[in-house]
Amino acid sequence: MTDDFFPEPFKIKMVERIKLKPKKERERLIKEAGYNVFMLKIEDIFIDLLTDSGTSAMSDNQWSGMFKTKQAYAGSDSYYSLEAAMKDVFGFKHFVPVHQGRAAENILFSTIITKGDYVPNNMHFDTTEANITRNGGIPVNLIIEDAYDTAKILLFKGNMDIQKLEKFIEEKTPDKIPLIMVTITNNGGGGQPVSMENIRQISNIAKKHNIPFFIDACRFAENCYFIQQREEGYKNKTIKQIAKELFSYADGCTFSGKKEALVNIGGMLCTNDEKLHTKLKNLLIIIEGFPTYGGMACRDLEAMARGIYEAIDDDYQKYRHAQMKFLADLLRKGGVPIVEPTGGHAVYVDARKFLPHIPIENFAAQALLAQLFIESGVRGAELGCSCFGKTDPKTGKFIPPRLDLLRLTIPRRVYTNNHMKHVANGLIELYKKRKEIKGLKRTYAPKLLGHFTAKFEPIK
Ligand SMILES: *Cc1c(COP(=O)(O)O)cnc(C)c1O
Repeated sequence: MTDDFFPEPFKIKMVERIKLKPKKERERLIKEAGYNVFMLKIEDIFIDLLTDSGTSAMSDNQWSGMFKTKQAYAGSDSYYSLEAAMKDVFGFKHFVPVHQGRAAENILFSTIITKGDYVPNNMHFDTTEANITRNGGIPVNLIIEDAYDTAKILLFKGNMDIQKLEKFIEEKTPDKIPLIMVTITNNGGGGQPVSMENIRQISNIAKKHNIPFFIDACRFAENCYFIQQREEGYKNKTIKQIAKELFSYADGCTFSGKKEALVNIGGMLCTNDEKLHTKLKNLLIIIEGFPTYGGMACRDLEAMARGIYEAIDDDYQKYRHAQMKFLADLLRKGGVPIVEPTGGHAVYVDARKFLPHIPIENFAAQALLAQLFIESGVRGAELGCSCFGKTDPKTGKFIPPRLDLLRLTIPRRVYTNNHMKHVANGLIELYKKRKEIKGLKRTYAPKLLGHFTAKFEPIK
């Protein structure tokens, strides 16, 4: 077996019927949804690649763990399972469970950010950016410049630019920087990994300036798999050993269990700082719940504890990355411009290259997303002008982000490669008739995280 082909290291025990509705109906449905795929109903979608968040298929091992869990307001056995898994795999001293990643972000940022503070990251994800902004902070992306060149092939295209970081700290002063973050893998920029060397360098800089270093660890195991495959010295290490080393360089992490704990809901906020932990815990009790359940049913914590081990399974990661490559290779062969190299949880299409005739302010990725649904009943996600675009507060002018991407996010253990073929066929068909695709005009969007509820109209 090679990296290109690694069969599912599981067999399928339960299935869910899906149905492709007629094209005429799909045209009507997307129009009624204001050309925003978040507004579609799941029964109207054939293959759903909106997100890998909370969409994993859970294992028999996870389900049976949920059944045996004792439900209790305080002191459930599942809390101790999760604590043991966190300490064993992540290795932090303290943690609080939360109902999902953004709750961890909110609790952390509302505790440590003072108005006007800066938070550097390789690249903030949308919820991270919004939670920092809402708490009065200023999120800043310090990723390497090459990350914005979608065709460029680099082994660790999610790395932070170390020189930019040092200059930034010098300029803003450490007092104004309550933490440094790094997102693994980099969801906002193609699901690209960060190297161990880069993590070590960031950690050293953070220590030098006495600034806490936190990892946005949503896809830590996929990132560790890339390190195993690509970075010198890690070939013979397990994903677990690599994860343990990686986290040892950080002071804490935010984690959405909806990704790599293979659960439908859950998250964690970890720290080595006991004083900070006490503050986080007290806020948790006010806004999430008691620390031994953190906003979830106790059974969810058990599923998360077991899922963490399933995510660091070397065979599982091999299969996952091989499926990602399978979809990417089909698209490459069909001429579709994708972000290179293949990401860890999704294949990203460069919508500006796909649709160069659409003006930047007419939401090329969003328009392509709507067309993909009409063409093949496939739902993807937009990580571009709708998600990351800003409005200049003075002039009211639209400020586009540097990338306009359509993300085809593969849920974990859910779809087969035949599904991936259907996805690729639809996009390749659209690529052939790309000149006919028109842009969109945005008619509504709230200020923060506007893409979730935005409305669009086709340009005449
Ligand atoms: C999903 C995600 C989050 C937020 O987690 P939720 O569970 O969706 O609230 C934060 N950061 C990154 C990189 C993510 O992918």
